[in-house]
Order: sequence, then structure tokens, then C-alpha cells
Amino acid sequence: MQKDIDIHMKGGVITERNAGFSTVRIRAPAGILTIEQLRGIAKIAKKYGTGTVHCTTRQTIEIPHVNPALIRKLAKELVKNGTPVGSEKDEIVNIISCPGSERCKFANIDTISLAKKIDAKMFGKEMPVKMRIALSGCPNACTSPMLNEIGIIGRVRPLRREGMCTGCGGCVYYCKENAIRIRNGISELNEEKCVECGMCVTSCSFDILTAEPRHYLITVGGRRGRHPKIGRELLTVQTEDQVLFVIDRIVDWVFRRAWSGRLLSEQLDELHFEKFRAEIIKQVPEAHAVKPGHAPGTA
Ligand code: SF4
Ligand code: SF4
Ligand code: SF4
Repeated sequence: MQKDIDIHMKGGVITERNAGFSTVRIRAPAGILTIEQLRGIAKIAKKYGTGTVHCTTRQTIEIPHVNPALIRKLAKELVKNGTPVGSEKDEIVNIISCPGSERCKFANIDTISLAKKIDAKMFGKEMPVKMRIALSGCPNACTSPMLNEIGIIGRVRPLRREGMCTGCGGCVYYCKENAIRIRNGISELNEEKCVECGMCVTSCSFDILTAEPRHYLITVGGRRGRHPKIGRELLTVQTEDQVLFVIDRIVDWVFRRAWSGRLLSEQLDELHFEKFRAEIIKQVPEAHAVKPGHAPGTA
């Protein structure tokens, strides 16, 4: 009986409008499921639900209209299927990700692999506030990372090899931010306008634009819902290990200091966000405050 109570307390078990039914949400890091897992979910949904599933905004699947008395059995079958019950309460919920460098030609980072690593370390941790984490491979931000409590965006800085630009203007054409112009026969970057998407780098037919090593912009305190808010830019780091370290620090900071009952976005000033940022930058020597100055001779 105690175990039944435990499973009903899990965030992934959601009481429906008709309280005689529950919806069961599964854990699917980065929204990736194998065909076998999908087949298994279909069988379980048919056996315990009404034979339908719902694809959620957080890249997971939920099984609606489940009899609460059967959830313990259903949960066991989900574990066996490799798709355990997920989370939805004040905890770290399903990590979402765009296709990143696995499939998208615009990507600067491998988002899916990183999302899985974050999931393995953090998923389901109980927190004073709900923590959503989203990754996008470039500033196109297809998963809206800046509207999550933690957002990660892959970026690159364009660099022009000195003296080799033909002034053809190809990069000017491809830059959607109007951040490049041709001056005195060579390309010139407007650092204020550049969002570090890297499109100009791949567009140069003469292969003379290069990118500094990819880097990861990390944002904190975004949210969707009835009063959406853009997260604040925390810093940029250069490796996956640094991303994992910084996320671990953010989670620890929120876990220890945040109050329950209020969204993280409403607490950032009280939590001394700027002081936290300064502390983190000291701990990750290679980290930059956001918008590092561009080296001379950039595109
Ligand atoms: S965010 Fe960028 S890398 Fe990710 S899917 Fe969108 S365009 Fe591609
Ligand atoms: S950087 Fe490349 S694409 Fe841009 S103007 Fe120079 S040669 Fe042309
Ligand atoms: S990286 Fe290149 S294409 Fe992207 S905004 Fe900057 S200058 Fe424009």
C-alpha cells in the first residue's frame, strides 16, 4: 500500500479533470525514443488507458485515462520498457533538445548527447521550484531555451583570416542580423548586432571565415505560462564538462536558496543573481561573462 502511495506522489502521475483517472507522463530525455520503446508504450497505453497517447510540449509522451488503482503495475511495465514514469512537479522535469549537430545543418553543438548527460545527472531531483532545462544548437533557439529555468544555446564567433577576404559579400547576404558590411573591400563585423549563429562561417565560399571553438551560452530564470519571461544570460563556457559543472552549481544554488511557491524568475534578484554569476565565473576560469569582446579582424 505504501508503494501505491509513493507512485501516486510522483510528479509524472497527474490527476485528471475527472479525478477518477490519472495521466501518466514518461521520462524521455531529449524526446528520443526507440521504435521498440514506442511499441512498448503503445501496448501499455492500450492495456491501461484507452489506446491513445498525448505528445507533450516537453518532448515526452503521456498515457491518459489510467485507472489510479493500476498505476503501480503500469509503472513497472514502463520501467521494463526503458521509459519510466517522468516528473512534472517541483523537480527537474524532462530535458528537451533540438536535433542539434546530429541532424541540423545550423547546429553548433551536439544538443541531444548533452541533454542525455544532463538527464542522467539531474532528472527528477526534487527542488523548491519546478526546473525546466532546454537546449538549442544555435541562436535560432527552436526549443525556446530562454523561456526555461535553465537554457543552453550553442554559438560560435566568426573570425576572418587577415588579408584573405575577397569582398564578395556572400557573408553579408547570409547574415540575417545585418551584422556584416563590406568596407574598403573586406568584410567587417558589427559586434553589437552579431548573435554568434555561425551562418556566415559556413556561407563563405572561399572558406576564409573560421569559427572560434563552439561555446555554450547558459541562461537562467526564463519561464513560459501566463507571464512569460526571458531568462537572464549567465555566462558562456566552452566544453560539455563545463556546462555540466555550471548546471550542477545552478541547481545547488536554487536548491539551497530558493523559496517554494514562487517561480524562479521572480526570485533572481533576491537570490543575488549577479553575485552568483561572479562566483561561478571564478570557479570556471575559461568562462566568459556574456558577449566576450570580439578579437580584432573578425569577419
Ligand atoms: S535551434 Fe538551431 S540547431 Fe537547433 S534545430 Fe533550430 S536551427 Fe537547428
Ligand atoms: S568573408 Fe568570405 S563571403 Fe565574406 S566577403 Fe569575404 S570572401 Fe566573401
Ligand atoms: S555569426 Fe555571422 S551570420 Fe551570425 S549574426 Fe554573426 S555575423 Fe551574422
